[in-house]
Amino acid sequence: MAERTLSIIKPDAVSKNVIGEIIKRFESAQLKIVAIQMRHLTKKEAEAFYDVHRERPFFDSLATFMSSGPVVAMVLEGENAVAKNRTLMGATDPKKADKGTIRADFAGSIEANAVHGSDSSASAAVEIPFFFSRLDLVR
Ligand code: ADP
Ligand code: MG
Repeated sequence: MAERTLSIIKPDAVSKNVIGEIIKRFESAQLKIVAIQMRHLTKKEAEAFYDVHRERPFFDSLATFMSSGPVVAMVLEGENAVAKNRTLMGATDPKKADKGTIRADFAGSIEANAVHGSDSSASAAVEIPFFFSRLDLVR
Protein backbone atom coordinates (compact mmCIF):
# COMPACT_ATOMS: atom_id res chain seq x y z
CA MET A 1 0.00 0.00 0.00
CA ALA A 2 1.44 3.35 -1.05
CA GLU A 3 1.65 5.75 1.86
CA ARG A 4 2.49 9.46 2.07
CA THR A 5 4.65 11.37 4.51
CA LEU A 6 5.78 14.95 4.98
CA SER A 7 9.50 15.65 4.71
CA ILE A 8 11.15 18.99 5.43
CA ILE A 9 14.75 19.84 4.62
CA LYS A 10 15.48 22.24 7.48
CA PRO A 11 17.28 25.63 7.25
CA ASP A 12 20.66 24.20 8.32
CA ALA A 13 20.72 21.67 5.47
CA VAL A 14 19.43 24.20 2.92
CA SER A 15 22.22 26.61 3.88
CA LYS A 16 24.79 23.78 3.59
CA ASN A 17 23.70 23.28 -0.05
CA VAL A 18 22.76 19.63 0.43
CA ILE A 19 19.14 19.72 -0.83
CA GLY A 20 20.12 17.55 -3.79
CA GLU A 21 22.09 15.06 -1.70
CA ILE A 22 19.12 14.59 0.61
CA ILE A 23 16.55 14.28 -2.18
CA LYS A 24 18.82 11.72 -3.87
CA ARG A 25 18.49 9.48 -0.80
CA PHE A 26 14.70 9.59 -0.95
CA GLU A 27 14.67 8.81 -4.67
CA SER A 28 17.23 6.01 -4.27
CA ALA A 29 14.94 4.47 -1.65
CA GLN A 30 12.02 4.44 -4.12
CA LEU A 31 10.24 7.32 -2.43
CA LYS A 32 8.52 9.51 -5.00
CA ILE A 33 8.15 13.28 -4.60
CA VAL A 34 4.48 14.09 -5.27
CA ALA A 35 4.63 17.73 -4.06
CA ILE A 36 7.49 20.12 -3.31
CA GLN A 37 7.92 23.74 -2.28
CA MET A 38 10.62 26.02 -0.91
CA ARG A 39 9.61 28.70 1.57
CA HIS A 40 10.87 30.81 4.42
CA LEU A 41 8.50 30.26 7.36
CA THR A 42 7.67 33.06 9.76
CA LYS A 43 8.25 32.29 13.43
CA LYS A 44 4.47 32.09 13.94
CA GLU A 45 4.18 29.55 11.11
CA ALA A 46 7.02 27.47 12.56
CA GLU A 47 5.31 27.56 15.98
CA ALA A 48 2.05 26.43 14.40
CA PHE A 49 3.76 23.55 12.58
CA TYR A 50 5.41 22.34 15.80
CA ASP A 51 2.35 22.99 17.97
CA VAL A 52 2.56 19.47 19.53
CA HIS A 53 5.90 20.53 21.07
CA ARG A 54 4.56 23.82 22.52
CA GLU A 55 5.21 22.71 26.14
CA ARG A 56 8.74 21.46 25.49
CA PRO A 57 11.66 23.55 26.82
CA PHE A 58 13.18 23.79 23.32
CA PHE A 59 9.98 25.03 21.61
CA ASP A 60 10.92 28.72 21.28
CA SER A 61 14.44 27.93 20.11
CA LEU A 62 13.11 25.35 17.63
CA ALA A 63 10.64 27.85 16.12
CA THR A 64 13.42 30.46 15.85
CA PHE A 65 15.68 27.93 14.11
CA MET A 66 12.95 26.71 11.73
CA SER A 67 12.24 30.31 10.69
CA SER A 68 15.93 31.26 10.36
CA GLY A 69 16.06 30.50 6.63
CA PRO A 70 14.23 28.76 3.82
CA VAL A 71 13.11 25.13 4.05
CA VAL A 72 12.11 22.61 1.40
CA ALA A 73 8.84 20.84 2.23
CA MET A 74 7.95 17.69 0.29
CA VAL A 75 5.35 14.99 0.20
CA LEU A 76 7.03 11.60 -0.28
CA GLU A 77 5.00 8.65 -1.50
CA GLY A 78 5.87 4.96 -1.47
CA GLU A 79 5.53 1.69 0.35
CA ASN A 80 5.83 2.32 4.11
CA ALA A 81 6.84 5.91 3.34
CA VAL A 82 6.56 7.08 6.97
CA ALA A 83 8.81 4.38 8.45
CA LYS A 84 11.14 4.32 5.44
CA ASN A 85 11.72 8.08 5.71
CA ARG A 86 12.35 7.84 9.47
CA THR A 87 14.95 5.11 8.83
CA LEU A 88 16.68 7.23 6.17
CA MET A 89 16.64 10.24 8.57
CA GLY A 90 18.22 8.56 11.61
CA ALA A 91 17.76 9.45 15.26
CA THR A 92 16.78 12.98 16.34
CA ASP A 93 20.22 13.49 17.92
CA PRO A 94 22.80 13.16 15.12
CA LYS A 95 25.31 11.81 17.65
CA LYS A 96 22.98 8.83 18.14
CA ALA A 97 21.97 8.48 14.48
CA ASP A 98 23.07 5.33 12.63
CA LYS A 99 25.98 5.64 10.23
CA GLY A 100 24.90 6.56 6.72
CA THR A 101 21.65 8.24 7.76
CA ILE A 102 20.82 11.80 6.68
CA ARG A 103 21.20 13.17 10.19
CA ALA A 104 24.49 11.35 10.83
CA ASP A 105 25.87 12.78 7.59
CA PHE A 106 24.42 16.31 7.50
CA ALA A 107 23.12 17.38 10.94
CA GLY A 108 25.11 19.57 13.29
CA SER A 109 23.08 19.31 16.51
CA ILE A 110 19.96 17.81 18.07
CA GLU A 111 18.10 21.01 17.08
CA ALA A 112 19.67 21.77 13.69
CA ASN A 113 19.22 18.19 12.53
CA ALA A 114 18.77 18.61 8.77
CA VAL A 115 15.35 17.03 8.24
CA HIS A 116 11.85 16.59 9.57
CA GLY A 117 9.73 13.53 8.86
CA SER A 118 6.19 12.69 9.98
CA ASP A 119 6.31 10.14 12.82
CA SER A 120 3.08 8.31 11.85
CA SER A 121 0.52 8.30 9.08
CA ALA A 122 -1.83 10.16 11.46
CA SER A 123 0.80 12.92 11.83
CA ALA A 124 1.34 12.94 8.07
CA ALA A 125 -2.40 13.49 7.57
CA VAL A 126 -2.13 16.67 9.67
CA GLU A 127 1.29 17.85 8.44
CA ILE A 128 0.77 17.44 4.67
CA PRO A 129 -2.22 19.86 4.54
CA PHE A 130 -0.19 22.37 6.60
CA PHE A 131 1.97 22.94 3.51
CA PHE A 132 -0.01 21.55 0.57
CA SER A 133 -3.53 21.66 -0.78
CA ARG A 134 -5.08 18.74 -2.66
CA LEU A 135 -4.35 20.47 -5.94
CA ASP A 136 -0.61 20.65 -5.13
CA LEU A 137 -0.31 16.87 -4.94
CA VAL A 138 0.61 15.35 -8.28
CA ARG A 139 -1.05 12.11 -9.29
P1 ADP B 1 12.03 14.15 15.42
O1 ADP B 1 12.26 15.33 14.48
O2 ADP B 1 13.13 13.15 15.31
O3 ADP B 1 10.66 13.55 15.24
P2 ADP B 1 11.01 15.37 17.86
O4 ADP B 1 9.66 15.28 17.25
O5 ADP B 1 11.21 14.79 19.22
O6 ADP B 1 12.14 14.72 16.92
O7 ADP B 1 11.45 16.89 17.96
C1 ADP B 1 11.14 17.79 16.91
C2 ADP B 1 12.37 18.62 16.62
O8 ADP B 1 12.66 19.43 17.77
C3 ADP B 1 13.66 17.84 16.38
O9 ADP B 1 13.78 17.35 15.05
C4 ADP B 1 14.71 18.88 16.69
O10 ADP B 1 14.86 19.83 15.62
C5 ADP B 1 14.07 19.58 17.88
N1 ADP B 1 14.50 18.99 19.16
C6 ADP B 1 14.14 17.79 19.67
N2 ADP B 1 14.70 17.56 20.87
C7 ADP B 1 15.45 18.67 21.13
C8 ADP B 1 16.29 19.07 22.22
N3 ADP B 1 16.47 18.28 23.28
N4 ADP B 1 16.90 20.27 22.15
C9 ADP B 1 16.72 21.08 21.07
N5 ADP B 1 15.94 20.78 20.03
C10 ADP B 1 15.32 19.58 20.04
MG1 MG C 1 8.79 14.40 15.57
